[in-house]
Amino acid sequence: MDWDEYIKWGEEVVHWGSNYRKNIRNFPVRSQNKPGDTYNSIPASPPEKPEPIENIFDDFNNLIMPGITHWQHPRFFAYFPSNAAPASVLAEMLANTIGSQCMLWQTSPAATELEEKIIDWLRVSMGLPNGFKGIIQDTASSATLTAVLTMREKSLNWTGNKTGLSGRSRLRIYASEEVHSSIDRAIWFSGIGEENLVRIPVYGELRSMDPEKLKNAIDQDKKNGFLPAGIIAATGGTSSGSCDNINLIGDIASKEKLYFHVDAAWAGSAMICSEFRKLWAGIEKADSIVFNPHKWLGAQFDCSVQFLKDPVIQKNTLSISPEYLKTKGIEGITNLSDYTIQLGRRFRSLKLWFLMRAEGMSGLRTVIRNHVKWTEKLYLKIKDLENIEITTPPILSLFTFRFVKSGISDNDELNERILREINDEGKIYLTPTKVNNNYVIRFTAGTFEMDEKDLHVAYDCIKEKSERISL
Ligand SMILES: *Cc1c(COP(=O)(O)O)cnc(C)c1O
Repeated sequence: MDWDEYIKWGEEVVHWGSNYRKNIRNFPVRSQNKPGDTYNSIPASPPEKPEPIENIFDDFNNLIMPGITHWQHPRFFAYFPSNAAPASVLAEMLANTIGSQCMLWQTSPAATELEEKIIDWLRVSMGLPNGFKGIIQDTASSATLTAVLTMREKSLNWTGNKTGLSGRSRLRIYASEEVHSSIDRAIWFSGIGEENLVRIPVYGELRSMDPEKLKNAIDQDKKNGFLPAGIIAATGGTSSGSCDNINLIGDIASKEKLYFHVDAAWAGSAMICSEFRKLWAGIEKADSIVFNPHKWLGAQFDCSVQFLKDPVIQKNTLSISPEYLKTKGIEGITNLSDYTIQLGRRFRSLKLWFLMRAEGMSGLRTVIRNHVKWTEKLYLKIKDLENIEITTPPILSLFTFRFVKSGISDNDELNERILREINDEGKIYLTPTKVNNNYVIRFTAGTFEMDEKDLHVAYDCIKEKSERISL
């Protein structure tokens, strides 16, 4: 394919994209494919001779699209929506076209410097104090892993990378019992071991880990000769939106001199609205904070921001400079790959720059406020339905509920079945979680192009299922 043909097909792609997104409500939200449908439709081996793009494009429409779950669908109420607002899609096309590798300052100075500026734009927009710097990573999982590695190295006085963990005191990391699986994996990959992730029980409306129990666990561990290394708190846990008490936990972290990481992968975006910042009051006490603009802020996946109070600590953990990466004779520059696990870096700040300018911060705040407001309305209506029990009330735009039928004890099976029916119908898409060991259904609003009418569809759909239970 040459660059003249690229123009023709590039135009085709943007027209296709605009039509797709404008008419996306016509698709079932979750793909209705059966396992193997796509795999079996693709030939066993690649073509020897070039094929016309026209044929490839046709196959894309006919073979691939049916196997797509439409994450940009306005009635995607599952997981956490991962938005791709049009301005960010455009920026991503530009970044992909340039095709730069932005690992060092000199491998694209604009990418490094725009990233530094955008981090500061976000810091100010979210009300974080002056002094927090940061980087853009691919996902929250990577950011959390870097934070856990930093906890490990800091607590071992930067000797773990050299000598490994064997023959040392057991390192301990503390988190709520509702932590995201990315934290378990960070504990595995850092060599600390899952048994050393201490899960603190939650309490209260916001389901915060209990600070008293946290303090006791740390004291107990010290008595037992273990080495406390860090605390991971969450603002907006994935399961039911739980928010740890950052203020009190931050005090414990600073008293115990423990590195303190906050996972706000989803809820962080809401902090551009000052009225929601009470959910992470005390956030200035964190050493590291991660949030995903690729979730609620509208930036195309992947885009995860990690704020760092003292970036040098993370740099001391991860920086390595073999001869071929040294940048001789340039002072005052930052090589952002010193702060991440991967050497290679995509040009991710470009889409945030396009997005924040094209929507304006007030536009982005309006989107988030609407989602929270509409979720509250839906919750109030669903709460009143018969055969439905609210299991956790809304935190921002997330609540959980389940269908109940009097006289039957195994509601889990009932909820699994109804959820499958709802998703097979494809009008809306919901996913499950566990609350107090019960199988429950999550509802979360967060796609950029949804409006209140989409919530009416969700209500009708849930209401119809609840009425059929009595029949
Ligand atoms: C989504 C999410 C994650 C994982 O994010 P990735 O970017 O996919 O790694 C971690 N923690 C919370 C609270 C999340 O909502």
